[in-house]
Amino acid sequence: MAEGFGFTLKATDGAARTGVIHTTRGEIRTPAFMPVGTAATVKAMMPDSVRATGADILLGNTYHLMLRPGAERVARLGGLHKFMNWERPILTDSGGFQVMSLSSLRKLTEEGVTFRSHYDGSKHVLTPERSMEIQKLLGSDIVMCFDECPALPATEAEVAKSMRLSMRWAQRSRDAFGDRPGHALFGIMQGGVTRDLREESAEKLKSIGFDGYAVGGLAVGEGQEAMFDVLNYAPGFLPEDKPRYLMGVGKPDDIVGAVERGIDMMDCVLPSRSGRTAQGWTRRGQVNLRNARHQDDPRPLDENCSCPACRNYSRGYLHHVIRAQEIIGSMLLTWHNLHYYQDLMQGLRDAIEAQNLKAFVADFHAKRAEGDIDPL
Ligand SMILES: [Zn+2]
Repeated sequence: MAEGFGFTLKATDGAARTGVIHTTRGEIRTPAFMPVGTAATVKAMMPDSVRATGADILLGNTYHLMLRPGAERVARLGGLHKFMNWERPILTDSGGFQVMSLSSLRKLTEEGVTFRSHYDGSKHVLTPERSMEIQKLLGSDIVMCFDECPALPATEAEVAKSMRLSMRWAQRSRDAFGDRPGHALFGIMQGGVTRDLREESAEKLKSIGFDGYAVGGLAVGEGQEAMFDVLNYAPGFLPEDKPRYLMGVGKPDDIVGAVERGIDMMDCVLPSRSGRTAQGWTRRGQVNLRNARHQDDPRPLDENCSCPACRNYSRGYLHHVIRAQEIIGSMLLTWHNLHYYQDLMQGLRDAIEAQNLKAFVADFHAKRAEGDIDPL
């Protein structure tokens, strides 16, 4: 375990866990939801506002930042925390997933990936060693191993081949990361939806040794049922005394199901992206504020929410600023969505600590099943 980094498990309820990740930049309460600050900003939010929603940690994207403004430039400007004015912990992904999903003309070899930027077509190379260097330049607190996530659909043989390449890259990431007190390196389990491959991947990662472990290669279009099938066993292959991170998840019900199955950390663009497309997430499900039914509605989006959008504004106002394409529409709805996600995480943490998760989850599903409040 890296010096200055640790994980304390506080309570469990079934497979679910609550605890605290200790870093030199502050504590992260788990289960934790990490808002995504792709381009050194959580879109439409000031850093203080993100913190006010209850977020302990942000995620930054290596792929985007290496291309624009460039990792060396961020380092010259004081590192990612100073650059974006967020003093608390930051986790960066390795760039591997987004190279596969966003760039063009990719060439994958044992050494790494050569690709062209989706911004300007410029040519770049990402290897485990370069990914570790970029994440060091950014100054991230939790660094992710460079891995490959095969595009779906893929045969089991293709998934196995890809997983073993990722495990060789995990060793190279570990070697290149070296000893950096106060900075943690997480390994990423692969293996698709095949139990034996997941177990092989976990064993390899444990033999290398990491400060935390991610379950990768899920939330890539396999569907919730297949994802939960994997989560029924995969977290159990990982060490109990290290954080477990499910990458790129998800919708509120995905999050609840993942936490029930032993996941400690998650990230997703969904709450912030939805905030820019008129979608509000509430205890009673998803609400489209563009819908004309809201135009004369004086009630808040969610009467149980204490965020500024719900405390100070009506559905009628939110509907108006969204229809008028006013910037405050994205700001308020993003704030609300992030606040709702963090409220959900606090509820999950409290329920696990009180050994009351089953009732909490039943109530979560019951409220969503009711649907949005009736129109006036
Ligand atoms: Zn709200």
